[in-house]
Amino acid sequence: MSEDCTDTRVVVVGAGPVGLLLAGELRLAGVDVVVLDKLTVPTAESRASTLHARTMEILDGRGLLERIGPVPHEGTGHFAGIPLDLTLPGPHPGQWKVPQTRLEEVLGEWAAELGADLRRGHELTGLTAGEDGVEARVRRHDGTVALVRGAYLVGCDGEDSTVRRLAGIAVTGAGATRELLRADVAGIDVPVRRFERRAGGLAVAARRPDGVTRVMLHAHGAPPRRSRPSFEDVAAAWKRVTGEDIGGGTPLWTDSFDDAHHQAEQYRAGRVLLAGDAAHRQLPVGGQSLNLGLQDAFNLGWKLAARVTGRAGDALLDTYHAERHPVGRAVQDRVRGQALLLLGGPATDAVHEVLAELTGHAGVAAHLAGAVSGLDVRHDVGRGGHPLLGRRLPDREVIADDGGPSTAFTLLRGGGGLLLLPPAASSAASSDASSEQDRLLALAAPWADRLRTANVTDPAGADAALLVRPDGHVVWAAGSGCGGLTEALERWFGTAAPTPAPTPAPTPEPVREPEHAPVHEPVRDPARRHTTAAAVTAAGTGRHGMDGLTGRTALVTGSSRGMGRATALRLAREGALVAVHYTSSATAAGEVVAAIESDGGRAFAVRAELGVNGDAEALFDALEPELLDRTGSPALDILVNNAGVTGDRTGPQDTTRELFDRLIAVNARAPFFLVQRALRHMRDGGRIINVSSGLTRVANPDEIAYAMSKGALEQLALHYAKLLGPRGITVNTVAPGITRNGNPVFDIPEAVEQMAGLSAFGRVGEPEDVADVVAFLAGPDARWITGAFVDATGGTLLG
Ligand code: NAP
Repeated sequence: MSEDCTDTRVVVVGAGPVGLLLAGELRLAGVDVVVLDKLTVPTAESRASTLHARTMEILDGRGLLERIGPVPHEGTGHFAGIPLDLTLPGPHPGQWKVPQTRLEEVLGEWAAELGADLRRGHELTGLTAGEDGVEARVRRHDGTVALVRGAYLVGCDGEDSTVRRLAGIAVTGAGATRELLRADVAGIDVPVRRFERRAGGLAVAARRPDGVTRVMLHAHGAPPRRSRPSFEDVAAAWKRVTGEDIGGGTPLWTDSFDDAHHQAEQYRAGRVLLAGDAAHRQLPVGGQSLNLGLQDAFNLGWKLAARVTGRAGDALLDTYHAERHPVGRAVQDRVRGQALLLLGGPATDAVHEVLAELTGHAGVAAHLAGAVSGLDVRHDVGRGGHPLLGRRLPDREVIADDGGPSTAFTLLRGGGGLLLLPPAASSAASSDASSEQDRLLALAAPWADRLRTANVTDPAGADAALLVRPDGHVVWAAGSGCGGLTEALERWFGTAAPTPAPTPAPTPEPVREPEHAPVHEPVRDPARRHTTAAAVTAAGTGRHGMDGLTGRTALVTGSSRGMGRATALRLAREGALVAVHYTSSATAAGEVVAAIESDGGRAFAVRAELGVNGDAEALFDALEPELLDRTGSPALDILVNNAGVTGDRTGPQDTTRELFDRLIAVNARAPFFLVQRALRHMRDGGRIINVSSGLTRVANPDEIAYAMSKGALEQLALHYAKLLGPRGITVNTVAPGITRNGNPVFDIPEAVEQMAGLSAFGRVGEPEDVADVVAFLAGPDARWITGAFVDATGGTLLG
């Protein structure tokens, strides 16, 4: 028997909707996750199909409703079989029908795209949880054994949870006393029924669009059974309760369930957590189990991610049990009440009548609808009197921090939180409000890597500044007696990102040539053709007023020299933490880091050879621990694919296969896999910039293979821009022309003069000319540019 071992950060057991949503949430925060499921293929059974308003908001908040497609919807649900209007205010009023199989399919695709490692045919057989981590022992469907180790393990493995058993987590509740039978049957024609109370029992029949009828029934007094009922059992019981014969139909699926209920006493035991049916089991009426489970996962994902990445401590993670256990208990109490009324027989008729009468009152109906839809959840987030404290924020029209119109729900899509401010103060009369907003923005700035800010457009949308958690719940409201903003930020968002050291006066770039004309003046006087590095630097390296990349992380490949070096320096000046990548000269890379640090910036060097097998993995394996150490997260915001090799003017006849392959491998293949790998941890709003060449637009027979490799590189922007647009990640190409890079050719005045003649400005490019363009594309002002080819050739392509 062979055995292998995988190390990850979080192990999720169970690839049902709850486990998959949790896996996606963890990946959204950049946390590595392995999902194990004993089934080799997803189940074809659609046990649950009802989604309620809060769950729809959650799915919408991750862009998943578009993937699911059109969803049938009805405004009326039920409580104990009594029709109940569920159309509470909100974007998704009512109840929505999505077969569980479809939901699993969509969640599985989403989690996998985000980089979750989904392993089917892996059955959990053993679990060791210690102070430092967990180890899951797994039997694969081929009989081999594997170990998966992580920092935490979450059991999303259903009501008979193996995780719960292996972790020794106790449950409280009561066993089953009544059974319900269920079957999907084709070829029958029985009246549609919604919880019809009959003398012999309860009957439900619903017709699906494909003509299949789902029947569900309870024959009064029928105790739970041990094995799955046959269709004959279901048909016989149906006949007893309704008098109708469905025995001639074709059964697609039969099932029985019961009114047993239990709840885990602890949703967290050290490094093991439970979510969904593993944490609570109740009679599945009205889709409560699925919705409750999905809402568990949404509550847990961001907290666990913050804990795993070291940004938050146990206190935040413990709020998962503190918040979700009471919600689960309240749902169970209501479900038990409904079970009594539905299955209790004629003895409960009178109570049923009274409840039906009460639901005729708008207040009672709204109260129950809030409970069924999940919109009534209010967490205990501490003191404070604002009505939204602890509740999920209703959606709001906003102006986002990037200046664009948006909505609060859209801004929460990236998995971070939100500081929501009243409308931007615009007149002198409101200068007090304006300075208060500036103060709050300054307080929140150290959390910029995990928090968006926005102003509501309608004053009625927020009477006070509100702090909203990644799961949409409001945890702080200005002036409501709930303490200071910083306190709330620390409590819910963890420790602030370290701020860069104060910036000393900028050190001038090394001057390579005597000073000539400033860069923006087109100089035609041959005597003044060469603009100097100093002039370029003076014109081009000014800060963006407010450290536009503070809190961002950047990787610039090939930044030990040339344009990469200038780009690293420039991004660091804008406030980014920069990874200076190199391959051959650690000394040169070290000097770039030292220059950045002496300028008050933050950087570190990272080595990896590109163009070889496993290059992207090796680079990120070196990069991520450094990012984790410095920021508490492996997340990358900016990737500049700058490293490149030329063909050294080897004409087409002399280009060997080896040279051709190397050009493609370094200039095109490596950036492709670097982007692929970077996306695993890239935050929404990220930037990808690929450095190509003007040679893809102007003929040079001596560099055909080089130009081909750059042409291939440019395809990344076109296609990835489309893919990543919904996440606010921009992907662009920058094409430099002839640029001084330290090559000895730039020491030959005649050669330089000839090269300078190609540019409309009459000089060769300086590395800073290109770095400034890259920095612009990396910054917030370039948010509206994606998929673009940006000509940074100094007008060389004008002909
Ligand atoms: P450069 O001075 O030639 O430096 C190249 C950088 O890429 C160095 O940091 C080098 O690292 C790194 N690099 C090269 N091959 C690598 C490999 N196999 N693995 C890892 N790193 C590797 O660069 P540049 O002239 O500034 O050019 C930057 C980019 O602009 C390149 O993509 C280039 O094709 C493009 N470009 C340049 C010009 C120009 O006139 N200079 C014009 C158009 C486009 P080590 O130093 O550690 O080896």
